Amino acid sequence: MKVLITGAAGFIGSHLVEKYLKEGWEVVGLDNFLTGTVDNIQDFFGHPNFTFVKYDVTNFLYVKDDLDLILHFACPASPIHYMKHPIHTMKVDSIGTLHSLGLAKEKGARFLLASSSEIYGDPKVSPQSEGYNGNVSPTGPRSVYDEAKRFSEALSMAYLREHRIDVRIARIFNTYGDKMNLNDGRVIPNFLKQALLGKPITVFGDGTQTRSFCYIDDMVEAIYRFSTKEGIPGAVLNLGNPEELRIIDTAELVKEITGSKSRIEFLPLPKDDPKRRRPDISEAKKLLGWEPTYSLRKGLTEVKPWFKKKIFGEK
Ligand code: UDP
Repeated sequence: MKVLITGAAGFIGSHLVEKYLKEGWEVVGLDNFLTGTVDNIQDFFGHPNFTFVKYDVTNFLYVKDDLDLILHFACPASPIHYMKHPIHTMKVDSIGTLHSLGLAKEKGARFLLASSSEIYGDPKVSPQSEGYNGNVSPTGPRSVYDEAKRFSEALSMAYLREHRIDVRIARIFNTYGDKMNLNDGRVIPNFLKQALLGKPITVFGDGTQTRSFCYIDDMVEAIYRFSTKEGIPGAVLNLGNPEELRIIDTAELVKEITGSKSRIEFLPLPKDDPKRRRPDISEAKKLLGWEPTYSLRKGLTEVKPWFKKKIFGEK
């Protein structure tokens, strides 16, 4: 079985490369290194079943080989990154999605889209289930990501309806783990870095906004099961951990786990920052027999040594 992974050098993409290789797949990885890094995939370069091509999927996309599956994971995913590259973000989740779907059609391959909890915007209901249509600003600073992901979902469903491509849509909620970019501005790497260095922990707003954090191993398992399950074309699933925390409590938990004496510094809340985010994962439980196994406490404890090594180097 052969899978093509766009965004293979990114945080989740590189973990997927590892998982599919481990499961015996041949893997073709594509990445243009806009936000992904060689570091994330260097361990796989010698693997006989791994091929990597430095490529921007907003260009015409073709590979010679037969493909069974395409995972479209290319896209800057942290608010800082997608606001820094707003046009490219929109291109990769419109033109890039079009090219990836076109390739799936050509190869008769299954297609799984990395969508996002951001398609719900600043949700007016909580938890968010797949039936909720969201509350997205079409023009705010986050719209480049939110609307592009929504467009990608619509395009995927169009390929299902018009060309009968077996598409699946994974709405990925906040995920953390090793291989995250330490400087991408997201809350878990920010807090861990600040706590480990004894610097102030930057809480935006009053910290009462919530997020629900999924550990990478749980996420990879969910995506693998979702992509390999037979007979569910057109399935749309929330993937994430429903354990919901206020950001201020997340800061306190990081302090406790790292034994840090950092003080908490309150900074202004960015525009359109969602107030609540928590996935309803009953569909994923039913369809995949999957649920997260890592609490945030367990996941942070697991990943702490990796962050330490990244920040302080080998000891
Ligand atoms: N946040 C924070 N301090 C930081 C970085 C982020 O308080 O140093 C907050 C941010 O305002 C948001 C939440 O943490 O409410 C999650 O932010 P992140 O950028 O990780 O991802 P998002 O879920 O907003 O896409």
